[in-house]
Amino acid sequence: MSKKSIVDYRVNYQPGVGVLSVEVTCCHQRIGEMRFADQQSLTCPHCQARHVLSIEHNHFHLSQHKKDV
Ligand SMILES: [Zn+2]
Repeated sequence: MSKKSIVDYRVNYQPGVGVLSVEVTCCHQRIGEMRFADQQSLTCPHCQARHVLSIEHNHFHLSQHKKDV
């Protein structure tokens, strides 16, 4: 088994401005970019995992939702 991370969230931010966008890697491949807004999501075309951004008043979550196979 590969020890490389298969999921990665690259968060783009600009000092003084804040977070701009999040680029999502899943299954070792970049699957897209979402703007930094609440409830943005991307679904991986390879494993169908849904990556969801949820923003709260002083923090945000990046979570993965997988369907039962
Ligand atoms: Zn995937």
